[in-house]
Amino acid sequence: MSNILCDMHVHSQSSHDSKAPVAQTAQECLKKGISVLAITDHCDIQLCKEQNVLELVKRSIAETEQTANEFEGRVKILKGVEIGEGIWNLDYTENILNSFNFDVVIGSVHGVRYEGYCDSYSTIDFSKMSKEQLNSYMALYFDEVLEMLNTTSCDIMAHLTCPLRYINGKYGLGVDSLNYKAQIEKILDLVIEKSIAMEINTSGIGSFYGQLMPEPWIIKRFREKGGYLITLGSDAHTPENVGNGFDKAIELLKSYKFDSYYYYENRKAVKCPIA
Ligand SMILES: [Zn+2]
Ligand SMILES: [Zn+2]
Repeated sequence: MSNILCDMHVHSQSSHDSKAPVAQTAQECLKKGISVLAITDHCDIQLCKEQNVLELVKRSIAETEQTANEFEGRVKILKGVEIGEGIWNLDYTENILNSFNFDVVIGSVHGVRYEGYCDSYSTIDFSKMSKEQLNSYMALYFDEVLEMLNTTSCDIMAHLTCPLRYINGKYGLGVDSLNYKAQIEKILDLVIEKSIAMEINTSGIGSFYGQLMPEPWIIKRFREKGGYLITLGSDAHTPENVGNGFDKAIELLKSYKFDSYYYYENRKAVKCPIA
């Protein structure tokens, strides 16, 4: 028996960093046997004063709805959003969430309010930071993830440990996620308490990073604590990357005795048994 494949984190041309038409990604899903696809374009709250963020979300939803109709019965296409830096403007975030009927809301931290380094961590030159700065940057990152979980509404916590993709993957600085075990434990406890799903983000597989986000020990810890709401997200920005690395993620889930993972529709978790 093969697994039902559901990709809950995918970008389209309504994201600033993607040119992918939703229909092309849906075609790719047909090829790869992916039955559920959520389009979760970026909604970067820190930019809400300079850009019409709402307009981009509107465009994403319109294209997603239209493509969902075209592919009905072949690929289930769901309307989502990836809220970045929601904690920078709680009112604006709430307004976005109340303005659309999303199937799924992903909560993300892409940048940290760290003095001198407030931009997205994907653009920071971490080789310029001292060991102490790196350490306090990561500690603040986990604090901000906690704050996001405590103060904004989301169904899925995205790519926990993502700054390490750059700190370790791009700059080879060898920061050990175990140094932040206490903060990570708190985050896992909170997502379990709030019934928020933990995403396994597979975008690092086949890239310079080569790792799942979060790392396997964190997924194992989540299971040991009784966590079961897991989603898979390729974070694809091009059609051909949809479902990337899912075989690896599912194998890992099986090895930790997860019997299912989930997708979201109408902001409710739907179970997908693991074969
Ligand atoms: Zn993200
Ligand atoms: Zn993303």
